Amino acid sequence: MTAKLVYDFDEPCEGGRDLLGGKGLGLAEMTVLGLPVPAGFTISTEACRHHLGEPGALPVDLRTEIEQHLAQLERRTGRRFGDPVDPLLVSVRSGGPVSMPGMMETVLNLGLNDAVIRRAMPLALPFLLDAYRRLIQMYGEVVAGVEPVLFAKELERFEAHRDPDHAHDDLYELVDTFRGIYLLATGGDFPQDPREQLFAAVAAVFDSWNAPRARVYRETSGISDDAGTAANVMQMVFGNRDERSATGVCFSRDPASGQPGLYGEFLPQAQGEDVVAGTRTPQPVEQMRLVLADAYAELEEAVAELERHYRDVQDVEFTVESGRLYLLQTRGAKRTTTAALRAAVDMTAEGLLSRAEAVQRIDADQLEQLLHPTIDPHASVVVVATGLCASPGAACGHAVFDSDTAVARSADGEPVVLVRPETTADDIHGLLSAHGILTARGGMTSHAAVVARGLGKPCVAGCAALEIDLDERLARIGDVVIREGDPLTIDGSTGRVILGLAPLVEPEPDANLATILDWADDVRRLRVYANADTPADAERARRNGAEGIGLCRTEHMFMAADRLPVVRELILASSDAERAAALAHLLPMQQSDFEGIFTAMAGLPVTIRLLDPPLHEFLPNPSEVEDERVRERIEALREANPMLGTRGCRLGIERPEIYEMQIRAIVRAAHAVERATGVLPAVEIMHPLVAFASELQWLVELTARTVTEEGGLDYLVGTMIELPRAALRAGELAVYAEFFSFGTNDLTQTTLGVSRDDAQGRFLTHYLQHGLLAHDPFQTLDVDGVGELIGIAVERGRATRPSIEIGICGEHGGDPASIAFCESVGLDYVSCSPFRVPVARLAAAQAVLARATHYVPAGG
Ligand code: PEP
Ligand code: MG
Repeated sequence: MTAKLVYDFDEPCEGGRDLLGGKGLGLAEMTVLGLPVPAGFTISTEACRHHLGEPGALPVDLRTEIEQHLAQLERRTGRRFGDPVDPLLVSVRSGGPVSMPGMMETVLNLGLNDAVIRRAMPLALPFLLDAYRRLIQMYGEVVAGVEPVLFAKELERFEAHRDPDHAHDDLYELVDTFRGIYLLATGGDFPQDPREQLFAAVAAVFDSWNAPRARVYRETSGISDDAGTAANVMQMVFGNRDERSATGVCFSRDPASGQPGLYGEFLPQAQGEDVVAGTRTPQPVEQMRLVLADAYAELEEAVAELERHYRDVQDVEFTVESGRLYLLQTRGAKRTTTAALRAAVDMTAEGLLSRAEAVQRIDADQLEQLLHPTIDPHASVVVVATGLCASPGAACGHAVFDSDTAVARSADGEPVVLVRPETTADDIHGLLSAHGILTARGGMTSHAAVVARGLGKPCVAGCAALEIDLDERLARIGDVVIREGDPLTIDGSTGRVILGLAPLVEPEPDANLATILDWADDVRRLRVYANADTPADAERARRNGAEGIGLCRTEHMFMAADRLPVVRELILASSDAERAAALAHLLPMQQSDFEGIFTAMAGLPVTIRLLDPPLHEFLPNPSEVEDERVRERIEALREANPMLGTRGCRLGIERPEIYEMQIRAIVRAAHAVERATGVLPAVEIMHPLVAFASELQWLVELTARTVTEEGGLDYLVGTMIELPRAALRAGELAVYAEFFSFGTNDLTQTTLGVSRDDAQGRFLTHYLQHGLLAHDPFQTLDVDGVGELIGIAVERGRATRPSIEIGICGEHGGDPASIAFCESVGLDYVSCSPFRVPVARLAAAQAVLARATHYVPAGG
């Protein structure tokens, strides 16, 4: 344990974000930059980790250290904590190393008690009574565990019957009622000792690291549970002190579009919680210029300075107290992908970022957000209301009015739109499962808006026309009634709320995305191919920048409605003549499939994998078949473990006529396309599930013989590496293979001994929930296990055949973390779904840049 656990904002600290948390670090940096930050200190994440290890009251040595910093704070502010006249009041705010907006706790106004209220000047009284009411409420909820609804009901009653002529008396009464609620719920009086309040609040903020919603958030955002939160103790400044006071949140650029310039919201005469809670709808921040001109000008300048300092879009919380501006927090702004791209491109033009830095600034996983559909502009839709464009894209689904129902209905495969008056951190599970979110209250920085943008989900917020009746489970917009389950569409890009399920269309291309991808292409080394089985897939892949097809799965062509009966005839044929007839029927169909794909790819490499799945996948359920001989034949083909049975090349070797037919179709298609277009397709024939060199030798000979019989063709022949044995014996396979492609879906399955079809939702999910695994190995490559086999195969394959081309075509080929691994072992290409091609282009460049950064010597 390091001796020091508490740091003043202006005190040097080596530990950075890990020790001070993001908020603590931001406050320290802003203080050093000379920006107006209330005085305070940060109790480190290390203190939190100790506390979580030994929960309960704070240990004596930590209290002593806090006392020392409190004394320093008293000197700086000229006020005493616990003074009955004009005391120092403080807030305690959580802030972990990684931002978790709204997931942990904050307590404001600590230091108030009955004595202060008794001695208050008449003019200050209403304001102090309101602050005291808030303290009892927040402290009650956060520290003493009082049910929030108990306070909320009273507050609602108070607001409804507010009488300006009796404001003082009413506030007194409300404070008394809150104290009564506190006493009834906890069995004790609200604590009057400010130090007791402070220490208990710090402990409660630390404990909020483990609140259920914080845990859910960390799990879904891949944040480690070990870090803990810091607690920031800061002098209170009051946005609700007088008519020259306000509070707000603003961004250095619009977080939805990326447009430069101050963007945000403020609420006159309010505290920060009023903005975030979405209980009052705030005004655009520019309007502050009209009422608090000096503070606005200072804010504009400070936010611009913060952006220059961090060279990143900032999200800043501020308060104006009696005309004076204070910054309470700065952090990198959560932004839509559109905004991230525009900001990165603009900031490069402004000289703030290099191109490489701009490429590194984009979250590759989030690029898919841009592929969100929008509402067909030609469709006639019934717009019943308009709200704020809180998070872009359109979503259709059935209306639900609470988060549990959202989870339940979407678990049944039903798309839902979550409709709420506003959301709170306790709705995180509903937000995660809904396709879209609609709220009646709250602004662009309300909880719903912030979380939806982070999740990449469409959201319309602050739709004032919407009246929600939670008891009746319906919403009214004028005369229109939306009941639970009614179809609804929201458009987070325009704020429209539409009755029914509107037709959606693909999004427009984004010029900034094209620029960033161009810059990424200049940097990346890996080629990016797509997994595409149809001409339409191939065209989409090319539009997204794919340089070839790394996997064309031919079984999908066999499953089409017009093919399946013929495929069944082939499998069940009882004579050579029947078999030949079925093959003759299938061949031209396959040929035309390949012609379509070759044409779409216009001479770029097309890797065709010959038939892979076990034959019984094409057959009907025997209980549905009347002919007994056919039923017996189907039964005979049934295997206990088909994924480890007669599939892949084993099938091709046992039933060579199938592979021969496919090879003939490929060669004929290549010739036909060359004749028609003048461009010879770059054909690569790939054999699946090879374990032994003898298999591959046999297959390569079959391939060569058949190609020759069809008049010859320039082609490459290669194998997938999907079995541990294939990886280990890659040196022998490379004698026959001109390329390898890692089928990491099967390679993961066979290396881990985990069924790719059965593990999700069962033990694998359990492992992930209980921290036995950090990632789903079918999404993010198991670098330590499967990765080691890949490394061995690359080395042994290249030792035999230095020119061998090596790629990956399992799902991992589109996953940024796995792509970084592919870069590190020197693969030649990655192949992924056409939609993920832009993700892979960016991730491949980021992998190069991360390695380059890694090798730069310190200070260089
Ligand atoms: C693989 O196993 O990784 C692969 C690409 O093949 P499939 O998913 O078709 O088994
Ligand atoms: Mg496979």
